[in-house]
Amino acid sequence: MGFTEEFDVAVVGAGHAGCEAAMAAARMGLKTALITMNLDLIAQMSCNPAIGGIAKGHLVREVDALGGVMGVVADAVGIQFRLLNTSRGPAVWSPRAQCDKAQYRVKMREVLEGQRNLHIKQAEVTDLVLEEVGRDQGSEIRGRVAEDARLVVPTLSAQNAERMGHPADSVEGPGTGEAGTRDQGSGTSEQKRIRKVLGLKLRDGRRLMARATVITTGTFLNGLIHCGEERYPAGRSGEPASVLLGEALRRLGLRTCRLKTGTPPRLDGRTIRWEAFAEQPGDADPTPFSFRTTKIVQPQVSCHIAYTTPRTLEIIRENVGRSAMYSGQIEGVGPRYCPSIEDKIVKFPDKTQHQFFLEPEGLNTHEVYVNGMSTSLPMEVQAEIVRSIPGLEDAEMLRPGYAIEYDAVDATELDRALKVKCMEGLYLAGQINGTSGYEEAACQGLMAGINAALWVKGEAPFTLDRTEGYTGILIDDLISKGTNEPYRMFTSRAEFRLHLRIDNADRRLTAYGRKLGLVDDATWAAYERKQERMAALEKLLKTKKANAIEGPGINHPSRDQGPANGGQGSKIRDQATEDGGLVVPTLSAESAERMGHPVSLVELVKANPGATWAVLLKRPEVTIDRVLPALVNELRSDPLLVDYALISLQHRTSLSHLDDKERHPDIGHPDSILKTEDAVARSVARNEAKAVETEIKFAGYLEQQKKAIEKLKAAEGVRIPEWLDYSVISGLSREMQEKLGRVRPETIGQASRIPGVTPAALGLVHVSIRIQG
Ligand code: FAD
Repeated sequence: MGFTEEFDVAVVGAGHAGCEAAMAAARMGLKTALITMNLDLIAQMSCNPAIGGIAKGHLVREVDALGGVMGVVADAVGIQFRLLNTSRGPAVWSPRAQCDKAQYRVKMREVLEGQRNLHIKQAEVTDLVLEEVGRDQGSEIRGRVAEDARLVVPTLSAQNAERMGHPADSVEGPGTGEAGTRDQGSGTSEQKRIRKVLGLKLRDGRRLMARATVITTGTFLNGLIHCGEERYPAGRSGEPASVLLGEALRRLGLRTCRLKTGTPPRLDGRTIRWEAFAEQPGDADPTPFSFRTTKIVQPQVSCHIAYTTPRTLEIIRENVGRSAMYSGQIEGVGPRYCPSIEDKIVKFPDKTQHQFFLEPEGLNTHEVYVNGMSTSLPMEVQAEIVRSIPGLEDAEMLRPGYAIEYDAVDATELDRALKVKCMEGLYLAGQINGTSGYEEAACQGLMAGINAALWVKGEAPFTLDRTEGYTGILIDDLISKGTNEPYRMFTSRAEFRLHLRIDNADRRLTAYGRKLGLVDDATWAAYERKQERMAALEKLLKTKKANAIEGPGINHPSRDQGPANGGQGSKIRDQATEDGGLVVPTLSAESAERMGHPVSLVELVKANPGATWAVLLKRPEVTIDRVLPALVNELRSDPLLVDYALISLQHRTSLSHLDDKERHPDIGHPDSILKTEDAVARSVARNEAKAVETEIKFAGYLEQQKKAIEKLKAAEGVRIPEWLDYSVISGLSREMQEKLGRVRPETIGQASRIPGVTPAALGLVHVSIRIQG
């Protein structure tokens, strides 16, 4: 054997999943190797130069709250920040940042290189070093159960025993200390064997041994690029495909599928007539991703909004048969929600115009990303399409758009820790599991890295459920349903979205990150201080009566943040009015409100003597930014609350439509906190205050959600023993047996989310657990 190195954890691929996985394992104290094809392309953004967006921003916040790095890196290289969806409720607000693509790679590499225990290696991984450690106990036990109606209690591994609620040290026997292994139900003899991954074989002859391995190879496994009639193997443009590793994984006998994704052309910004397009600037006060970010350092730039013309659509229609997607050349299934331009034209034939965006790829390049124009049409057609748009008549194409087809593993082969069920020590994360997107990859990478580290340490896996975060939802969806198209996150996938907001990701997850060793002392201290700050503001709002209000400056119309869930608005409003026992002042004021003029806060206060600010905040038109100015003296006198005074004062300066007497006397005062130019501090304080408002305003609704969460958790609490044999459950149809046997859900809750599994089947499984148990 040639040169061999040994590690605790090996991570294959330094994309968005791999970087998080390697950082997590190394920060948890394990000697970790990160092996990737090209060190210069670490954390390459294969497609759009942006992080976040609707629901994806939630994922980045969750990664950050757990101690991951994507948020910090994106904040450091962000060149345009926008908080999306602010015209809707706070549940669906989501941060997005245009990033400098080259700087993102540089910054991520800097972060990785600064991490103790982390060893970065350039190499192509071609195969796994495997050891057969036995036959699948599960199938043997199931066989015995079928024979013996009295049921044989199986020997459990310590880890699985613990999962099932038995103390690990009560377990004895051959399985002790080994990872959970379950029958995959695929029926292949290949999969009945349990194998352990001991390490990796590299293309240059080296071997790299590791106790746990995380594979995060993105679109590279048997990748095939399509551009019109042309096609060639590649991992993405300019990089080789991972064919040998692709074959090695196929040999493991895991169920795989073929997926595809696409990317638009890139243009030379110097050849664009920018004045032809509407400018889209970022937010004045940027909302960072990371709870740890205090400053945005990069100069901020604008994007531009553009539209197709009738001629554009004509060109696409004339050539659609030459698109790789429509010529039948691509077998893989593409992302429904990220369609190519030819998809949009075919699927929405009545639409006469399609919007797209011109987005800078960085501060030191002229390259421009054409967001919304993903295509696999031939290059000359792409050039014609670009030129059909006024303002792009002379635009030069730097890189053509293309589609890529690749192998993905059916994620129902994985357990909740992202471990391959029939393998010991092997975890998969990112696009290889059928997802699409940097953020979807990052959150899986973090979870897989954490779990690989825990496995090496001999500790129980760390999992999140659907009520704790979008990360939990993504993993639950993947392992319960698999996917037959690239899976991306949406807020609509969450059952409890008002509960899963960007502003409370830290409250939901940071304590876990701290326990795992991923949240350092300074971050933890800042987190605790934030909780104190918000609690102090909530207390002030709940105790301070609004009687004393004199009126200045608080009657301005305010953006209605609305209820968090569409359609719930009027219900919540009614409920708020009842809960608060609030009296709407006068009929005329109410009709004024109906006509779009908010009721004066002064009138509301007068009509509700003795009401606290919290009671008033329950009204939809009373928002925290209307209330804070009235509390500015209290806020300024409490060091915990002074940041909220800052935003209330800043708010007043923008009230130019108010009379002088309505403006706060502190404006222009030499001690005014407004002297600070700290935009991030303002946006952080504003978002914190908004979070307090949300908790107060929607308290009734959040309480209802809590009850539903408890119900769901109860269903999650009913564990399905891994030895349960679906084939002997009387009355369970063959179809149900197959569906359940394929996924082998861990709980009744998970079983209920397998498509097509009926409540009647769940009832039978439930009864059977009790009988057999
Ligand atoms: P990647 O970021 O792909 O990283 C994989 C890493 O594995 C690379 O570093 C590679 O070098 C390494 N690697 C692979 N094989 C080996 C090996 N054998 N040995 C060592 N290292 C190896 N997402 C969207 O959200 N929207 C889009 O519109 C979109 N369009 C896309 C278009 C294209 C053409 C491509 C390629 C991707 C697109 N994506 C899009 C997907 C997005 O890029 C991925 O979801 C994301 O990058 C996945 O992250 P990952 O970490 O799983 O893999």
